[in-house]
Amino acid sequence: MKIDLHTHTYFSDGHLSPSELIMRAHNQQIDVLAITDHDTTAGLSEARAAQAEQNRTLDIISGVEITTRWHGFEIHILGLNVDDTDANFQERLALQSKTRTERAQKMCDKLERCGYPDVYDKALAKVGKGQITRAHIAQVLVEEGIVSHFQQAFTQYIGKDKRAYVNSQWIDIATAVQWITEAGGKAVVAHPGHYDMKTKWLKRLLAEFKEVGGHGMEVTHPNMQLTKKTMLANLAKEFSLMAAVGSDFHFPSR
Ligand code: AMP
Ligand code: MN
Ligand code: MN
Ligand code: MN
Repeated sequence: MKIDLHTHTYFSDGHLSPSELIMRAHNQQIDVLAITDHDTTAGLSEARAAQAEQNRTLDIISGVEITTRWHGFEIHILGLNVDDTDANFQERLALQSKTRTERAQKMCDKLERCGYPDVYDKALAKVGKGQITRAHIAQVLVEEGIVSHFQQAFTQYIGKDKRAYVNSQWIDIATAVQWITEAGGKAVVAHPGHYDMKTKWLKRLLAEFKEVGGHGMEVTHPNMQLTKKTMLANLAKEFSLMAAVGSDFHFPSR
């Protein structure tokens, strides 16, 4: 079976519509696909409708990637198999959405003070139906020639502690695990290899995550070296966490 438990659509910072993502998953012979947009499940109904038109089986897992704060780090927690019709859960995600909007506005205020006005409106114009993310702001900074490539937007302006970074009041990890669990889902630490923290801190993160009822962690990522995958798989065993596999797909070259 081909399984991908971490993908994005244009309801957050992915480039494909849910229908296009479903078509692509069929072309790639995927059997199980979780859609995990940043702090929203809004893409799922379109995805299910698109799947209903297909004659090949594809299990769609309703998912979400919740942003949390932990000791200054922004840690992403995947919720897999959540009930996206749960009204309480949707109210909670709406709070995250509000935090996202306020954070983007504050970041763009800082960019304005750096001499770059109107970034917020230009970023918002790219968002369409979904959540605003730093990826949208980064895209505008590239298009306006303020930075020369996407990554540079983070290293110079909107990455952790850079000139236009804003330290937002995201929920903590325990709250995210609670929201996901109460919506019937499993909580999974997203891309634990990407947080730029020492192994000692990563272990502390996983220990606390397990302690508050977390279920799993991602153990692989495209282009990850085998030694790193082995290290993550060993950590999953050490902390008795289930292992998840996902591509973190955003668009065809990523
Ligand atoms: P956020 O609004 O913080 O959830 O940012 C969403 C997206 O920004 C992530 O999914 C990545 O695609 C991108 N991103 C975040 N940090 C970086 C980084 N340091 N370099 C490149 N892309 C990043
Ligand atoms: Mn993203
Ligand atoms: Mn993420
Ligand atoms: Mn992701």
